[in-house]
Parts: sequence; C-alpha cells; structure tokens
Amino acid sequence: MTLSSHKLIIITAPSGAGKTSITRFLLNKYPKLAFSISAATRKPRAGELDGVQYHFIPEEQFRSRIEADEFVEWEMVYEGCYYGTLKSELQRIWDADKVPVLDIDVKGAIHIQQQFGNNCLSVFIEPPSVEELKKRLESRGTETAESISTRLSKASYEMSFSHHFNKTIVNRDLDIACLETEKVIKEFLGW
Ligand code: 5GP
Repeated sequence: MTLSSHKLIIITAPSGAGKTSITRFLLNKYPKLAFSISAATRKPRAGELDGVQYHFIPEEQFRSRIEADEFVEWEMVYEGCYYGTLKSELQRIWDADKVPVLDIDVKGAIHIQQQFGNNCLSVFIEPPSVEELKKRLESRGTETAESISTRLSKASYEMSFSHHFNKTIVNRDLDIACLETEKVIKEFLGW
C-alpha cells in the first residue's frame, strides 16, 4: 500500500495564528485523530519533551534522514532549523487505524497536498491581522524580540498562500474557530 492511499489532515497557518490550540482541541475530542510528531532540529523549549511535541534530532541526523528519503516533506522553517514529517510517523498512525493531524508550515502543507491530493484535507488558520498576531506572539512569552520579528515577517508572506488550501478559517474567536474546523474535518471524514 502506498502512503498516499490513506487520509490525513493538515492544519497550517502563520506562527501564532492559533493552529496549535485548534489542533489540541481536535485531538482531545476525537481519539481517532492522532498528532503527527514531526522531527525538528531546534532545541526543546521549557516543558517540551522528546517524542511528545517533536522528535528532537541533531542537524546531522536530520540531513542523513533526508538523504535516506525518510521524510514525506521537510522544510527549513526558520533560518538554521529543519522541521519534517517522517513517513514512519504517518505509517505508525495509520497502523493504529487513526487519522494523522499535521501541524506544519505553509510550504510543507503544499508539498503534502501535492502528494496526497483528495486524501488530504488542508485547513488554513488565518489570524485576523498581523497586528493581532504580534500581540499574541508577545503574550505567549516564549519568543525573543528577534524571533517575534522573524515570525511576523514570515507571517505576512505566508498569509498570501491561503488560497492554496481546501478551507480557510479566520481565528477571531478561538472557540468559534475550533468548532468551524471540527465541522470541516467531520465532513471530510464522513463522521
Ligand atoms: P515551533 O518552532 O513554533 O514549534 O514551530 C515552527 C513552525 O514549524 C510552525 O509553523 C510549525 O507548524 C512548523 N512545523 C512543525 N513541524 C513541521 C513539519 O514537520 N514540517 C513543516 N514543514 N513544518 C513544521
């Protein structure tokens, strides 16, 4: 069986648009959905554990796994930091008879869509404005001023890709955005 004969869901957005909160809401509500744990070369933040939020691996290992064709997609999302979805991770989830939910960046999402076609549902979470995004990133308290400014300039660029995805949901109110995303996913999976 090829990888692309299975279904998967992508939640994509500029950093800070709320995709992680929406993804968490969905995973808590539906045990049939499973978080796809990406590989990443950045350092874990306080409270993050290897094998939970990410498989944290050294850059050298990440590069050799690219060479070995182990990724379904990968990107250098931020300067010097690689992130990628391992084929083995998707297979692990399908083997458990679950549907993977990928919280990935816009370019990675487009690559996955190209490979999975109609078996993939892509949901783009749009922040109400770049100003609002700035406020959210600042209140998160996990980012340096430099990281916030990198993420904001990237966000404006990423927002121009929204038309590539199956659905766009504007996150003005998190509870409403969660329910709208849930509705779209249930339709896609025939639940
Ligand atoms: P963070 O460093 O804040 O955890 O994530 C940074 C960005 O990388 C987020 O937009 C996140 O969605 C994205 N990301 C996480 N995993 C992957 C992945 O496997 N592939 C791609 N392309 N992006 C990812």
